[in-house]
Amino acid sequence: MTAPEPTNAQVRLRPEIAALPPYRQGRPAPANGFKLSSNENPWPPVPAVERAIAAAAAEVNRYPDATALVLREKLAERYGVTADEVLVGAGSVSLLAQFVLAAAAPGDEVVYSWRSFEAYPGLVTVAGARSVQVPNRADHGHDLEAMAAAVTDRTRVIIVCSPNNPTGVAVTRDEFERFMASVPADRLVLLDEAYAEFVRDEASVVGSDLIGRYPNLVVLRTFSKAYGLAGVRVGYAIGPVEILDAARATAIPLGVTAVATAGALAALESDAEAELLGRVDQLAHRRDDLRDALIAQGWAIPEAQGNFVWLPTGERTTEVAERLFDVGIVARAFPGDGIRVSVGEPESVDVLLTVLKELV
Ligand code: PMP
Repeated sequence: MTAPEPTNAQVRLRPEIAALPPYRQGRPAPANGFKLSSNENPWPPVPAVERAIAAAAAEVNRYPDATALVLREKLAERYGVTADEVLVGAGSVSLLAQFVLAAAAPGDEVVYSWRSFEAYPGLVTVAGARSVQVPNRADHGHDLEAMAAAVTDRTRVIIVCSPNNPTGVAVTRDEFERFMASVPADRLVLLDEAYAEFVRDEASVVGSDLIGRYPNLVVLRTFSKAYGLAGVRVGYAIGPVEILDAARATAIPLGVTAVATAGALAALESDAEAELLGRVDQLAHRRDDLRDALIAQGWAIPEAQGNFVWLPTGERTTEVAERLFDVGIVARAFPGDGIRVSVGEPESVDVLLTVLKELV
């Protein structure tokens, strides 16, 4: 058989995938500037974590343990569950995609609030499912009643993000329990708690306290933020075994590296963890001080429970973001809506307050 003539025909891709915008990352910070666009932890790893990562790197000719058993056992002990009730993934964003793929088939619906984490729409589309976005309340928090009311026969997953990225508002425990009572128990609820360790409001929901109480609840956490391991990609989910097994089946095998699990395990050792959580405490205080100072300047900053604050800049978003960039601050702008600024180095807070005072 002769080879076909080359033509200009385009390879047939799934049109909805070809049209997906790529995941956005902030631009690099200018020299002497501050990258406050990805809610990263401003500190480099503590020495024990760096040593553990280096030791694991020396053995990268071997495949990792596909199930990350040692890390799952460690987390299981901490949360009072079995290792089978913990699933480790290559960042919690991978886990979110795995759960959506496990529960939502083409034509099904996934409900989440909007504005929320930018990755949600893409991973719903990849699953072939349909996003149902429920607008946030005027205070920039989830409208859980409206989210529950948006559930239809086709809904398979509801994602609750607390504290919400990018607005910072956390869901309260009371609100969440009412919500769980009003959602059918055969629909999967994903409670995305990427910023849980930064929460200081005692009324906020703590997903890990609710494990075992609901057959349809999965809680997602990450080592990327509080534990400062964004670069190695490791997160985890806690929930009922059957749901986790289904999510395990949708994963690309061996996605979690030995370097990542070694870093995570070292970060959970008591001395390292005490230091890391001390840094989290500093960031939470810095966030509260920054929010108070911005409110005193006249900014309407919503409740901030993550490691970031939300500036509702509306139509002025691009202009304000450019002004921030001019003074060396890279923030995440959502044109027409607002700007999310991560809480970083103390010097960045001074620069921010100086420039934002002029822009209020
Ligand atoms: N959920 C939320 C709400 C986030 O903001 C992020 C990171 N920006 C993630 C999940 C994913 O984090 P990772 O994949 O690094 O664990």
